[in-house]
Amino acid sequence: MQRIYLDANATTPVLPEVFDAMRPFWLEAFGNPSSAHHSGQRARSAVEHARASVARLLNCAAKEIVFTSGGTESDNLALSGILQPYLDRQEPAHLITTQIEHHAVLYAAEALEKRGIQVTYLSPTRDGIVDPAAFEAALRPHTRLVSVMLANNETGAIQPIGKLARIAKARNPAILFHTDAVQAAAKLPLDLTLDLKNIDLLAISGHKMYAPQGTGVLFVRSGVHLTPLFHGGPHERQRRAGTENVPGIVALGRAADLASDWLASPAPAALADLRDRLESGLLATIPNTHINGSTTHRAPNTTNLRFDGADAESLLIALDMQGIAASFGAACQSGATEPSHVLLATGLSPAEARSSLRLSLSRLTTTAEIDQALAIIPAAVVRLRTLA
Ligand code: PLP
Repeated sequence: MQRIYLDANATTPVLPEVFDAMRPFWLEAFGNPSSAHHSGQRARSAVEHARASVARLLNCAAKEIVFTSGGTESDNLALSGILQPYLDRQEPAHLITTQIEHHAVLYAAEALEKRGIQVTYLSPTRDGIVDPAAFEAALRPHTRLVSVMLANNETGAIQPIGKLARIAKARNPAILFHTDAVQAAAKLPLDLTLDLKNIDLLAISGHKMYAPQGTGVLFVRSGVHLTPLFHGGPHERQRRAGTENVPGIVALGRAADLASDWLASPAPAALADLRDRLESGLLATIPNTHINGSTTHRAPNTTNLRFDGADAESLLIALDMQGIAASFGAACQSGATEPSHVLLATGLSPAEARSSLRLSLSRLTTTAEIDQALAIIPAAVVRLRTLA
């Protein structure tokens, strides 16, 4: 059976060029970048080369890039790194975030709240987007940090973070702005000197952009002081202790170069066309199907569809048996699936959230695969509805 992978927001494959770039750093070029000898310096130079590539993707300075173990660490480092000093000094501090964040931000915010940080969790409008007026109304005199994601992992909805950051800085230039750009990087052009010029911290994950799992980046704007999460060596300019994951960092650098080329080509529009072909094909053939979230401000590879009366978890299993990988909700610790907190926050009922499926395409998805999916999914939905 030919497998069709429509779950690129969960993870992407490592591209062959990325794998080739990282391979020597496990084998003949295995040095520790902190060693003064030739092997160490070769590894150091590879790490710095990768840092420059990531900086090019984001249009920032190389010294503003901190390599981490992934999106979760980057988000935790941003929130805790900025707010920990207020807890230490027992000074009041307020964080604004949203109900639609990934758990890497949401649970980090909840943990800080338990320790005394005041937190506002903004709800989005029905299209899954945070309303700038509601954001402005939530600002307080002691708001210190904002954390609003760029593209949502479940609906793909793109948040107006340039505008939100402008509002925050106009109120108080000392408010810092973090964005989780894990689902936006390498899918949308990001420029920290243009639309993102008021963003102070930005998180990226390697495995959402064709580099390996366990690699990530936190952009930290020059002049922003972070309290590190880890105690140890002076790596990453004292911002992230621990010997660098050299092969992973090299891979991330190569993936960033490939992403810069991809974004400058017609490929992103072609990917959006392919997603639209899938989406419109399903809407046309399956009655009582709806799109969840914004269709105008959306990552080019994502669609989140609601099939009234079909249980999405059963649909997921049925599709998997026919070779299609999709996604529903978020796997919780027990392994059971909960209705998505993102869809519930946009006002969907638990039953509506439970009938919603996320389909996310990768750069490698082909038209033939989409047509094959269009031949399989409608019949699977009809079968489930008959069983319900
Ligand atoms: N933020 C978002 C929006 C994500 O989609 C994910 C992963 O699904 C993460 C953060 C966590 O990234 P990582 O898996 O690299 O820890």
